[in-house]
Amino acid sequence: MQESAYWNVIERLPRAELEELKLRRLRAIIRYAYYNSPFYHKRFKEASVTPDDVRSFKDFEKIPVFRKDDIRAERDKTGDPFAGLLCMPLEDVLLINPSTGTTGIPTFVTYAETELKICAEMMCRHFWMTDARPGDKALTIQLNWHWLGPPSVTAYRRFGMHLMIDFVHPITAERYVWLAGFKPDFMFMDQPLLMAIRDEIREHTGKEPHELYGGVRNLVCGGESFPPKFKEHLMQEFGITGGVYDLYGCSESHIVAVECPEHNGNHFWEDMFHVEILDPDSGDVIPPDSGESGEVVVTSLFARDMPFIRYGTEDVAYLETERCGCGRTHARLVPRDRISWRIKVGGKEIYPIDVRRVIEEFPETVEGAFTIRKYAHEMTKLKIDMRHEPWVRPEDEEALASSICERIREKLGVEAEIRWVSFSGLPVIFHKIERVLDETKM
Ligand SMILES: [Zn+2]
Repeated sequence: MQESAYWNVIERLPRAELEELKLRRLRAIIRYAYYNSPFYHKRFKEASVTPDDVRSFKDFEKIPVFRKDDIRAERDKTGDPFAGLLCMPLEDVLLINPSTGTTGIPTFVTYAETELKICAEMMCRHFWMTDARPGDKALTIQLNWHWLGPPSVTAYRRFGMHLMIDFVHPITAERYVWLAGFKPDFMFMDQPLLMAIRDEIREHTGKEPHELYGGVRNLVCGGESFPPKFKEHLMQEFGITGGVYDLYGCSESHIVAVECPEHNGNHFWEDMFHVEILDPDSGDVIPPDSGESGEVVVTSLFARDMPFIRYGTEDVAYLETERCGCGRTHARLVPRDRISWRIKVGGKEIYPIDVRRVIEEFPETVEGAFTIRKYAHEMTKLKIDMRHEPWVRPEDEEALASSICERIREKLGVEAEIRWVSFSGLPVIFHKIERVLDETKM
């Protein structure tokens, strides 16, 4: 029998049917949240919206957007650790995870039994899309007990992959030499963590990562958006034979969006999520397929434990709904950066990913290890602290810096200044480089 190209036929549902299904589920979750969550009940009332007022996607825009700080504020005000978002008795919740805490004090993420199964289904579709197959050996490495851990474990089992899952901190070279003996076909992890593992292996074993992990077919990596040249670089460094796929995720809403083999954005499943893109300044909804980016606002259509309705993720992306070359009809998010990393230079708005796309053109800086120093709200030039590859000679640093600045001027139309630093000279949180160091707040 010929193998299907999809895990679930719903991945190819015609868009008109998908939109209809989405609207039906959207109206149901609004009604459910209004009557079961004190948080939403209060916010809907304040905005003078009732579930009956929402009959179209346009009506849905009347519902106020909320963000992580609103959860924290409500939690502080009411003393409820779930901020009034939990819609079922605690005994019906299987697991409670704190969010990653990248942006401050963590909030809680819950999984009830049905929600865990739905999240696992979402991941099975992603696994199949990134060319994993039943019987593959999968290695997942996550920092401690990450929110993707519980659905991953359920998904691997359902999918039929053999899983080695490692929740680890700190990173030691011996551990990754030993784990390589498992000879995985498929790896799933955080990009900054992968870089830290690579550095550790190099420094303490004298080996290159491909000597240990060569033969891995596919790698799915989250944590930060992926420029294309860096992807090729990773494939060579780790000896990956198939492909590297970018993953975008947001813990609170449980949304996960992953690239397909077309590598033209990250598919998320619209039978499970409704996503809007909002202009960060006006708050207006930006229509999909306009190529314009804005804040990713997510509504989970399935979560009855802790629904997230118009949740502003503070991440920036644009949305594509045109049919993808892979045949899937579900939309794609093209992730960019965090809103808090938006800077103004020479009258232009720039995100670190724009800089990264320029500097990865140079083999000496393909890895994109840099931080922008924000020294004023409106800057006249970019000040960048950057690390280059270890093989660059000190006498070549100046010429390299001026070539990169020239390219930044051509591509982004702004002046730049580069200061070479070692990796430890860059600000890092949980192995992730802080892309913008806000010196105006120091
Ligand atoms: Zn696709």
